[in-house]
Amino acid sequence: DFGIGSWTARRARKTPHRTAVVGPGGRFTYAELHERVHRLAHGLRGLGVRRGDRVAYLGPNHHTFLEALFAGGVLGAIVVPLNTRLAAPELAHCLEDSGSEVLIRHGGSVPGAQVRRTIDVGGAGPLGYEALLADSPAAPIDENVALEDPFVIMYTSGTTGRPKGVLLTHGNLTWNAVNVLVDMDLAHDEVTLCAAPLFHTAGLNMTCLPTLLKGGTVVLEPAFDPERALRLVEDLRVTYMFGVPVMFDAMARSASWAGADLSSLRRLACGGAPVPAATISAYLDRGIVFSQGYGMTEASPGVLFLPAQDSAAKAGTAGVPHFFTDVEVVDAAARPVAAGQRGEVMVHGPNVMREYWGRSAETAAAFADGWLRTGDIAVADTDGCISIVDRAKDMFISGGENVSPAEVELALREHPGVADCAVVGVPDATWGEVGKAVVVPAGAPPDGPALLAFLRGRLAGYKVPKSVAFADELPRSPTGKILRNTLREEFR
Ligand code: ATP
Ligand code: MG
Repeated sequence: DFGIGSWTARRARKTPHRTAVVGPGGRFTYAELHERVHRLAHGLRGLGVRRGDRVAYLGPNHHTFLEALFAGGVLGAIVVPLNTRLAAPELAHCLEDSGSEVLIRHGGSVPGAQVRRTIDVGGAGPLGYEALLADSPAAPIDENVALEDPFVIMYTSGTTGRPKGVLLTHGNLTWNAVNVLVDMDLAHDEVTLCAAPLFHTAGLNMTCLPTLLKGGTVVLEPAFDPERALRLVEDLRVTYMFGVPVMFDAMARSASWAGADLSSLRRLACGGAPVPAATISAYLDRGIVFSQGYGMTEASPGVLFLPAQDSAAKAGTAGVPHFFTDVEVVDAAARPVAAGQRGEVMVHGPNVMREYWGRSAETAAAFADGWLRTGDIAVADTDGCISIVDRAKDMFISGGENVSPAEVELALREHPGVADCAVVGVPDATWGEVGKAVVVPAGAPPDGPALLAFLRGRLAGYKVPKSVAFADELPRSPTGKILRNTLREEFR
């Protein structure tokens, strides 16, 4: 059995007394985690869960999420992490789409009637989570799960449409963890802060799984708060953290930032959306290695990562392909483009999904000759360092020229009066489409025409938006991505 379900047994053999997980529910060693995982696996088996069955988990970051994940892995079941911010009908869709029979839930209300059994974390009675563990044997189970076997259905962020269920195997996530360990030099004494939600790919796969494979400690935070995150770094001597750009930005803007002791931090990894230059330099200026990465749910997720030694020299780029992942930037005819030329990112590797769950047409459309088509536009420099320009779907054409909203936003964010911003293409009689900037001001709203003049010094004329609107906040997904469809509708 070399599936991910076997990891707690292997760790309990090697480092039983080391702390595996610490968080709101307590502190657990690898031996304790292992025992709880196998009790849960027996409990689930008693409820009829068999190889290939889907078990959903709904709740904030908590040790029971990891227990459910490993227990599902032990049984060869497929674990379905659900997004806690979804509304009831959206959750019902995910439960139905995945065909989940059992739901483990921690707080929140869900249409329980959708599933055959619900197990309540913190619940009393025989189907309370702790009672199920207490009533189940601790004897290890070995179902002989292989790397090729399916392991999780993770839903994409839903930035461009309805979230898609991505079926990932034990092998996919194992290879991603190996890529992360190799390229980030994670150590046996790593203390990793997981403040991004575990139900999204990066929260789980850029932090927890690689750390637990190596024998480090995972610190689970149920909800991200910048002040608390800084305090945890100090108190628990955190060495590594992954975050989306809005998280690192909020930490650097928080009141505790200047006085916080960040000396334990060895490295930060940031990705999921374009990373503003000011966010990167806030950390580099304090001597902290800040590496941008790029990936997606379909790739488990790591694709590109900026090595520590280049984090200053190549700041702003998403770095180079992970060790076991191949990347090409290609033109419309699928030919690799030269350095400096834009093209679509194509990905190939053992971390790439085989399919979208139950969506064969979308699966077929996602691949070309076995390579994953990402729909993201990028450009490589002569050293092979790749910068993500934008999603192809978000780009618009103004007067015959391609405009990337992400590029305009990064420039606009350099204005001191701009706390946050988004650019969308809106219809225009003369140019076809023109950019509209939506700005969240930092303090008193700056003058709109002055902002546009600021951009004119930095960008080609066709890229500069024609108008500015101000807003108190931008519509964003929980993973910090701007929901451009919402803005496009508002300003159509
Ligand atoms: P959906 O596929 O449902 O529309 P999504 O693509 O946002 O949602 P994820 O898999 O969470 O779902 O995100 C992957 C996407 O995030 C990538 O395809 C890319 O567009 C974006 N992304 C990831 N890292 C970066 C980065 N460093 N810079 C810019 N964009 C990034
Ligand atoms: Mg996507």
